[in-house]
Amino acid sequence: MLHTHSFGAEWNASSSQPKDSVVILNDEVVRISAMFVKPRYPNGAGSLNDIDMKPGDTAIVYVCELPEIKGKFDPAKAAALGLRPGPKYRELQLGNSVQSDQFDEMVHPSDVLGPSIPGPAVLLVDCPTQYHMPELFSLQPLSCFYEDSSNQRESGKKVNCIIHLGPSSVTKSVDYQNWMKRFGETQHIMAGHEIKNMEIPILKGSARISSRLNFVCPQLFPSSGFWSVKPANEVMENDKSTSLEACGIVSAQNLLKFHLRPYAQLGLDSASIPSSFTYKDIVKELVSEIPEVREVPEQVLKFWQNNANVKNIQPAGSRMLMVEEPWIGQKSAKLDGSPKHPRDNQEIPCCVEDASREDMEITFLGTGSSQPSKYRNVSSVYINLYAQGGILLDCGEGTLGQLKRRFGVNGADEAVKNLRCIWISHIHADHHTGLARVLALRSKLLKGMPHKPLLVIGPRPLERFLSAYSTLEDLDMQFLDCRNTLKPSVEAFLSENVTGSATPQLENTMFAPGSRMENYNRKPASPRDTTALANFKVLQESGLDILYSVPVVHCPQAFGVVLRATEKVNSAGKVIPGWKVVYSGDTRPCPALIDASRDATVLIHEATFEDSMKDEAIARNHSTTKEAIEVGTSAGAYRIILTHFSQRYPKIPVIDEVDMEKTCIAFDLMSVNLADLPVLPKVLPHLKVLFKDEMVVEEADEIQEAAVY
Ligand SMILES: [Zn+2]
Ligand SMILES: [Zn+2]
Repeated sequence: MLHTHSFGAEWNASSSQPKDSVVILNDEVVRISAMFVKPRYPNGAGSLNDIDMKPGDTAIVYVCELPEIKGKFDPAKAAALGLRPGPKYRELQLGNSVQSDQFDEMVHPSDVLGPSIPGPAVLLVDCPTQYHMPELFSLQPLSCFYEDSSNQRESGKKVNCIIHLGPSSVTKSVDYQNWMKRFGETQHIMAGHEIKNMEIPILKGSARISSRLNFVCPQLFPSSGFWSVKPANEVMENDKSTSLEACGIVSAQNLLKFHLRPYAQLGLDSASIPSSFTYKDIVKELVSEIPEVREVPEQVLKFWQNNANVKNIQPAGSRMLMVEEPWIGQKSAKLDGSPKHPRDNQEIPCCVEDASREDMEITFLGTGSSQPSKYRNVSSVYINLYAQGGILLDCGEGTLGQLKRRFGVNGADEAVKNLRCIWISHIHADHHTGLARVLALRSKLLKGMPHKPLLVIGPRPLERFLSAYSTLEDLDMQFLDCRNTLKPSVEAFLSENVTGSATPQLENTMFAPGSRMENYNRKPASPRDTTALANFKVLQESGLDILYSVPVVHCPQAFGVVLRATEKVNSAGKVIPGWKVVYSGDTRPCPALIDASRDATVLIHEATFEDSMKDEAIARNHSTTKEAIEVGTSAGAYRIILTHFSQRYPKIPVIDEVDMEKTCIAFDLMSVNLADLPVLPKVLPHLKVLFKDEMVVEEADEIQEAAVY
């Protein structure tokens, strides 16, 4: 899809001189020209006011025209004019006059050819807001296509298809509809982003795998946003679709085509549109493929029931033991008093024991390395703090799409609106290229509402990327260098401010011009304060006690991160320490991260390579599965979740089961609730049944991992 308002400052400047259109391409196959449409914001005088205009506000209309179609050659007419079949026929078709073979006269192309018709033309129209309409409607070069204009009658030009990219709030307005009518009989395709295709996943492979995981373990894989989403306006769309189609208006669909050539096939072609398939279909297919999978959901459910029972039976605040098969363990302990398996003797941390389901949940939006694959998107972890907002840790390409797949369109909007902070580990593309999209959406969603710029904590080079991008689109964010969020600076600030109690300056927006934050940003000499102030605010609002970055071993300016929740008092009056989540980013196993992960409730650690590829892991500054688990074990982490898998292992990476007692593998769209941590490691063996035939390398040839990641 062309992005029609991303031409930047240069193009915008050129459009300030009145210029009708710019020809982008003109050869024997096609002519493509572009027209610029600037918004006209109303000011006092009701005229153009572009003081607030950003380069990205300019929309573009593309016209795509094919060469004219020559009239048909009429052999009967040629014979009557005394021509014999031969090379002269061809000359005439090429537009040249020839001498008649029988008569003393010239034969001209128009004598033997039917009338030419103008070539097919397509318009791609973006009209993002109502403010763009006046300029769009007055574009001169379009007048030759209006049925009611004298220009059109002269040229005989006609648009065969118009693709409308504007939102329905614009395209359904009376003015816009009237403008559409001016083109006469033409095919309109409404391709505004919000209209359709909610219920048919485009990425079938990923939809299939997440639906299968949902069937087996809905506790960790809640049903995908796809199947539940059906916007109210869509139902109306469907009802009206027949009457709209009669007016030459259809909604765009994935892989809907409009043929321009050959001329005989001119028109819509919906043969390639992916067929809709439902959750039910996928489950049916799964059960017929792997019949034993039927038993699994019940087995998995027992873990959860048992987890809940154990919690209810025990007095709050007490410690308890986890056992391999909890229900069997309890029974046998009662019956014969036999000791539990030593490796199961792991205490549940108080913060987990006392957790409500609305304390914290970790959703993995991307769990693969390097580049998106069919089964694993690139890195992103969403920390849902429920009423207190949310945090994104890394934001690889496609993060927003994954949020929508997991939470539905409206849910994703909510999540984006309620973000408190986005933290980026390092500058490799698989960790940040989805960032601008998320920021731009947030800015759009919060437009006109009181809000603060979103805090983005990342390596310094990321700031350059973001500021370059922000000339195109408003990102509405405040950048903070990871190096300014290391533990000593954050702690020092917190101790100063927390013990000093009064923090009245935080009542005002800390980013306001003239505020301390603003001043500190201009003075790199005091980064500690900058850091601390920013963090402090974020922590305060999202129930975190501390958030700090940890330097790791991967590439220049690569970091891990530690989040710790504020302690709370439970119903029995006991003080419960806050949970602690550590995310490694990309790294070799390193002492700084082990130190930071001390007693973590959850350590999310990269495990790019399987154990047999340690040399590769060393060469590329990544970790193997075993190394990642060792980091967690030596730090005493309660649970270790592995992620950032090489795309060589498309579904389940090969992992030694002995290592799995406190470990789980992350999958895309998996949601791990704080309250479910005790059962987490027990689920994986049951998921393996889904992949029993596919544990081997499936698409290694397609995966190239030469790039850094
Ligand atoms: Zn990476
Ligand atoms: Zn990397």
